[in-house]
Amino acid sequence: MTTISLEKETNSWESQAARFDLAAKKLNLDEGLWKILRYPTREIIVHIPVAMDDGRLEVFTGFRVQHSIARGPSKGGIRYTPDLTLDEVRALASWMTWKCAVVNIPFGGAKGGVICDPHKLSMGELERITRRYTAELIEFIGPEKDVPAPDVNTNEQIMAWMMDTYSMHMRQTVTAVVTGKPLNMGGSRGRREATGRGLMVVCDEALKKLGLNREETRVIVQGFGNVGSNAARLMHEQGYKIIGIAEIDGGLYNKNGIDLDALSEHRQRNGTIHGFPGAEAHDPADLLITDCDVLIPAATENVITTQNAYKVQARILCEGANGPTTAAADDILAEKKVFVLPDILANAGGVTASYFEWVQDRQGYFWKESVVIEQLEHIMRSSFEDVVRYAETHNVNNRIAAYMLAIDRVAFTIRQRGIYA
Ligand code: NAD
Repeated sequence: MTTISLEKETNSWESQAARFDLAAKKLNLDEGLWKILRYPTREIIVHIPVAMDDGRLEVFTGFRVQHSIARGPSKGGIRYTPDLTLDEVRALASWMTWKCAVVNIPFGGAKGGVICDPHKLSMGELERITRRYTAELIEFIGPEKDVPAPDVNTNEQIMAWMMDTYSMHMRQTVTAVVTGKPLNMGGSRGRREATGRGLMVVCDEALKKLGLNREETRVIVQGFGNVGSNAARLMHEQGYKIIGIAEIDGGLYNKNGIDLDALSEHRQRNGTIHGFPGAEAHDPADLLITDCDVLIPAATENVITTQNAYKVQARILCEGANGPTTAAADDILAEKKVFVLPDILANAGGVTASYFEWVQDRQGYFWKESVVIEQLEHIMRSSFEDVVRYAETHNVNNRIAAYMLAIDRVAFTIRQRGIYA
């Protein structure tokens, strides 16, 4: 194995590009299309002045990267984190293009965010950052152009402010400009838990394929935010045994299974999962390499690297986060025959439900939750089949199969549209 510095290994853009290059090579992708698809179409950097509560003026840096609009408006979340970089946003934007193509919905890919720590900001400061960031992007976003959504540290309230700011500039209410909104202003039923639900659907399909059943399947989840907590709760309800939960500042472990209802109650009462009496406290990093059947990293990028991949004991790795595994760790997991459900397939339930939200906003007609769930499950199941069949036919792993399928779909559209000159 070639050695690589951890810094290079954990650059998300490099990780994305390494998989893209491998998949494009296997597809024999035309050199021109390779150049078009390897890099984003547009990268916007804004420096936004914001009045802080104490009277000071502060300037925050924000990004919006639009990787591709070949198959439709670009789509992707907004994150507010203190260590956000342009490379990270580029990688996340590309992953959105591939993800939307894997589940075959009519969007390209984008991502954005602001360098800030929302835990240190007041609601008023957060609102002013959000509104000024949205205003700076006004001509680049829109229902037919680029449609943001929540991601790490952003939520329905932030989407409401984005929608309102955009609408004020347009002089009319434009609900379809963002997804992940509150229900009363054009949000979709079933969107909040959609990413977690999608993870469960692809896990169900993987169990069938490997001849396992839910009741005997032990699951460890990293990250108990939107994605991780919903996946854990839904899987627990369906009989999976959730034996471990890793959070940033501590973890929980119970080999007989954690009662998720009791844990949710505990968190509601105490504001944290720590101190939960139904499980032992456990080192969160150690939970990634603890014996289990399904490991769901649902927190952040680059948590499975060459440093720990060889110790992973899970039979199935189901990627809830974007980019939780580095490209260099892929080979180690393949050698260990871990069945990988790659991020661009596994966590696509969120953008799929966002697509439903966008459709409902444009229709002005809102679906029952059962309809959202049924359509979501159908798309996730058939996408799983597409990826696994592609992997078997082309003798590649699931991740490279997902990239190949996606690149092929986007490249086909670009060829058919032609290049405007
Ligand atoms: P979130 O902010 O709601 O939750 C993230 C959780 O992970 C938090 O509870 C945080 O404390 C925890 N965390 C952060 N770093 C950690 C670490 N090193 N170890 C353990 N826990 C850690 O965010 P989210 O919306 O759940 O997103 C999580 C991941 O899923 C991100 O990679 C995001 O891009 C991806 N994702 C989200 C969606 C969605 O619909 N929200 C869809 C697709 C992918």
